[in-house]
Amino acid sequence: MNKTALIESLMSTFVEEVAEHVRSFNHDLLALEGGQGDATTLLQSLPEREYLCGLSEIVKAGVIGDPELFQFIEEHIEAIRQREAAVLTTLIERSIAVKVQVVQEDPTERGVRAILNFGHTLGHALEAATGFSDRLVHGEGVAIGMALAFQLSVRLGLCPGQDAERFVRHLKAAGLPSAIADIAGARPGAGELIRHMAHDKKVTDGKLTFILVHGLGRAFVTRDVPLEAVKSVLTEG
Ligand SMILES: [Zn+2]
Repeated sequence: MNKTALIESLMSTFVEEVAEHVRSFNHDLLALEGGQGDATTLLQSLPEREYLCGLSEIVKAGVIGDPELFQFIEEHIEAIRQREAAVLTTLIERSIAVKVQVVQEDPTERGVRAILNFGHTLGHALEAATGFSDRLVHGEGVAIGMALAFQLSVRLGLCPGQDAERFVRHLKAAGLPSAIADIAGARPGAGELIRHMAHDKKVTDGKLTFILVHGLGRAFVTRDVPLEAVKSVLTEG
């Protein structure tokens, strides 16, 4: 397991535990400071590429449930790239708060919790299509997957184009890839990517299950995305 995956699994385990506590005891989220301190040190110790992958998952938290967090990341991108501890601690605290909120809304994992996987269906397909190699690491796949999900949302008339543009501008400022064309080497084809997604059991009756957005901070699950729209976005995005 690489460090990015480790952070992710640590965080999600941590969040599960926290959610359990919040449900049972209604603990104050501020009681989590110890865990956040460790996560800050961990983020500071990562090589640049893995650090940016961690950032990609934090950006995801802002996009799915906290537009103010997203704006905070935009406004503090320089301090974030310098890995200033105070800013990182805020990012961790707020992204965990988003996860806790989502988990609380869906403790039995029947619906809304799937939005925590925003960008991941497409991201995993891109990782698979590039052979899980150095060409594309997990957080980069997620970044591109999120950008493609924005494009798909715009194409389906669900999200204003300016939100998608703002999101892509932000990924670029953060030093993250934002399009399939940003991946080195031969471009994975739309058909191949869709096959990988189908393998991921996200296809029912010719429709794909996706997490899309109505705008920054507003993600939702839909089981009704036409394959043709996905193909277009994968061909152009
Ligand atoms: Zn991930």
